Amino acid sequence: MRLEDKLYLDGYKIDEIGGSHLVIKDMSVCLNCELQQCLYICPSGVYDFDAERGEIEVNYDACLECGTCRIACQYSNIDWRYPRGGFGVSYKFG
Ligand code: SF4
Ligand code: SF4
Repeated sequence: MRLEDKLYLDGYKIDEIGGSHLVIKDMSVCLNCELQQCLYICPSGVYDFDAERGEIEVNYDACLECGTCRIACQYSNIDWRYPRGGFGVSYKFG
C-alpha cells in the first residue's frame, strides 16, 4: 500500500476559525536554514517551498500531529501546538 493511500484513510477536521496550529516564527531564519529539513522529514508533506513567494508554505490541514518537525527544526522556529479540541486528525485504524 502506498503512503498516499494510507494517508487517505485518515480523517481531518480543519479549524478554519482558529487557523494553523503550526506557525513558522521567523521566515528569515528559514531562508538561511542550511538543510530546510522540514521539507523532507514530514511524513505528510505539510511543508513546501513556494518558489514564487520565496517562503515555506505550511499546509497544516494535512498534519498528523506526530511532532517530528518540532524536534527536527534545529532553530526551534516552529510554533507547534495541537489543534483545538475537536479539530485535527482522526485515525480510523488506531
Ligand atoms: S527546519 Fe526550521 S528553520 Fe529550517 S526551514 Fe524548516 S522551519 Fe525553517
Ligand atoms: S507534526 Fe508531523 S505531520 Fe504534522 S507537520 Fe510536523 S512532521 Fe508533519
